[in-house]
Amino acid sequence: MLTDEYVKKVYAQVEKRDGDQPEFLQAVREVFESLQPVVEKHPEYEANGVLERLVEPERVVKFRVAWVDDSGKVQVNRGYRVQFNSAIGPYKGGLRFHPTVNEGVIKFLGFEQILKNSLTTLPMGGGKGGSDFDPKGKSDAEVMRFCQAFMTELSRHIGQFTDVPAGDINVGAREIGYLFGQYKRIRDEYSGVLTGKGLEFGGSLARTEATGYGLCYYTAEALRVLRNDSFEGKTVVISGSGNVAIFATEKAQALGAKVVTASDSNGYVYDPNGIQLDVVKDIKLGHRGRIKEYAERVPGAEYHEGCKGVWTVPCDIALPCATQNEIDGESAEALVKNGCKVVCEGANMPSTPEAIEVYQKNGLLYGPAKAANAGGVAVSGLEMSQNSYRLSWTFEETDAKLKSIMESIVANSLAAAKEYGEEGDLMAGANIAGFVKVADAMVAQGVL
Ligand code: NDP
Repeated sequence: MLTDEYVKKVYAQVEKRDGDQPEFLQAVREVFESLQPVVEKHPEYEANGVLERLVEPERVVKFRVAWVDDSGKVQVNRGYRVQFNSAIGPYKGGLRFHPTVNEGVIKFLGFEQILKNSLTTLPMGGGKGGSDFDPKGKSDAEVMRFCQAFMTELSRHIGQFTDVPAGDINVGAREIGYLFGQYKRIRDEYSGVLTGKGLEFGGSLARTEATGYGLCYYTAEALRVLRNDSFEGKTVVISGSGNVAIFATEKAQALGAKVVTASDSNGYVYDPNGIQLDVVKDIKLGHRGRIKEYAERVPGAEYHEGCKGVWTVPCDIALPCATQNEIDGESAEALVKNGCKVVCEGANMPSTPEAIEVYQKNGLLYGPAKAANAGGVAVSGLEMSQNSYRLSWTFEETDAKLKSIMESIVANSLAAAKEYGEEGDLMAGANIAGFVKVADAMVAQGVL
């Protein structure tokens, strides 16, 4: 609940201005609820208008992306880049290509990114971008032409010291390659302007695995510190079958857990013997197929239409890795009823406010996205460092840095929660720890 007068006033302003952006309002409200004890203790934040400025992006770029499909027809999509906050570093955040993309979705992701990037302890501001382009069913040549058209406009607004985009839903190695190539052609400049690049042209080892691995490092550390427990012998439900889900499955299995599900936007598979990841990789990374194929190939596995049912599968730990608001109150109740004790988020904002209430009421260990999935952007930050030094670290070196960053996020979140009377609350702790650093930098830099 919002009780602090300053916080209430700023939230009312956001509601008035951005009432048509429900995901953005949801993200702001959750953060504001955690920040009330902080602004009460620090009147300088109100005096410097920190919250008013935090919720208003420094810049929103919205542009036409016109391209020609394989049949020679002109197609027009919308492109976005929200440069949200540069108090602690250049704007940094991924690009999402999905038909559900609109300004409100990109703003919620950009807003979350400010605090997430701050939590990594690396010098990165918050940004996000994307397009309502749907790569499903498009040929490679169409995806390339779209990426080139998208970058032709985006290149005016980004740069290695200004704004460094990366991947997100439907933007993986293929798309980053095409985007990087077009930036290089237009600017005649070979720089680390994007992260998630191929290893042959400046990418970092362990970036592909980083979000999924990082999610498991975070969960393992939270389990150790708060429950004196581990992944060993646990049953895990994971949603999605993209980049984050695949590498979360890989690491959870390596840490001794049995992962029993995988899903996509059509449905989910349940494999009581444990998901065979090589089959999922072959389907998704090999030929961009549908997850249904898994049940056709693996004896004993079941396929169910509709992705929501995945939350009715009994488990100890749930790791949502698909998309926003994929767990509502009803799904959260089903998880609890079937024995789930831990929810850590690989996707951004996968739990509705009602679902979070259910976790809290039932004493689940809840690791919020902006902390639990920060591993991706953390290794993106390490990719930027390697590009600046013009060197590359080994997989082991980078993975060790990732693990230590995820462990420090758990420690810093718990310390911040304790300082503000929310002991053991990883959500409040992440919001507070991420915010304080950005807020102090904003105050120090004056009213901008
Ligand atoms: P991918 O495109 O690789 O995979 C996305 C997966 O989620 C696919 O299985 C997709 O199924 C499914 N999905 C997408 N939209 C929906 C939907 N509306 N309903 C149900 N399922 C859906 O993306 P990522 O794995 O990179 O991203 C997954 C989540 O993790 C996102 O929330 C993203 O913001 C977040 N994230 C990603 C990071 C990264 O480094 N990649 C970093 C931090 C967070 P289908 O193929 O059918 O669309």
